[in-house]
Amino acid sequence: MARYIGNKCKLCRREGMKLFLKGQRCFTDKCALSRRDYPPGVHAQKRTKVTDYGLHLREKQKLKRIYGVLERQFRLYFKEAERQKGNTGENLLSLLERRLDNVVLASGFALSRNHARQMINHGHFRVNDRRVDVASFNVRPGDKISVRNNDKTKKMVTEAIEVNKSQVVPDWITVTGDGAQAEVISVPRREHVPHPIQEQLIIELCSK
Ligand code: SF4
Repeated sequence: MARYIGNKCKLCRREGMKLFLKGQRCFTDKCALSRRDYPPGVHAQKRTKVTDYGLHLREKQKLKRIYGVLERQFRLYFKEAERQKGNTGENLLSLLERRLDNVVLASGFALSRNHARQMINHGHFRVNDRRVDVASFNVRPGDKISVRNNDKTKKMVTEAIEVNKSQVVPDWITVTGDGAQAEVISVPRREHVPHPIQEQLIIELCSK
C-alpha cells in the first residue's frame, strides 16, 4: 500500500496536535509544534471559521494520519468496521489498533510507526513463527509476534526497547521472554485507544 512520504511535522501542525509521528523527537523541544503552533501554508493563519464539514473532515484526517493510512485503505477499514457487529466507530479503531505496525510500535520494538513499518517490510518480524512483511497485517488474539533470529534485527530491536523502556505496553498485548516477543491477549477495545479521537464524527462523515 502507498504511504505518505512528505513532511510529517506539517501533518501535526495541520491538525493542531501532536500525532507522535517521529518517535522520541516528538517528546523533545525539537518538536515543530512547540515552535510553530499554527497550520502550515502561507494563508493558513488567516483561516478562522471552521465549517461543520471541516470539523468532521479534520477528525477523519487525524485518525488516518496517526495510523499512517491513506484514503483508499481507510475506506476499506471503514467498510469492514460497518460489516462487523457492534459499534462501527469502535470496530474501526479496533481494526486500526490491530495492524501489525501498530502492535510492533506499542510493544516498544520500534522507534516510530514508520520505523515499525520499514522493519516489517524488510522481514524482521514473524507472526506465529511465519515471516510477515505486510505492515497492515491484522493480528488476532493468541498471535505471537517475534523478532527474526538475526544479529542485526536483534540489535535494532534491543536498541528500540532500551529507548522505549518508559513506555507502557497496552494491556491487550503482553511482552514476553527477554522482551523480544509479544503476544496479543485480546481484541483492543475503545478504552485501549490512546488517541483523542471522536470516532462519531468520522462515522457521520463516512456514512453520508
Ligand atoms: Fe508531530 Fe513529532 Fe513532528 Fe512534533 S516532532 S510535530 S509530534 S511529528
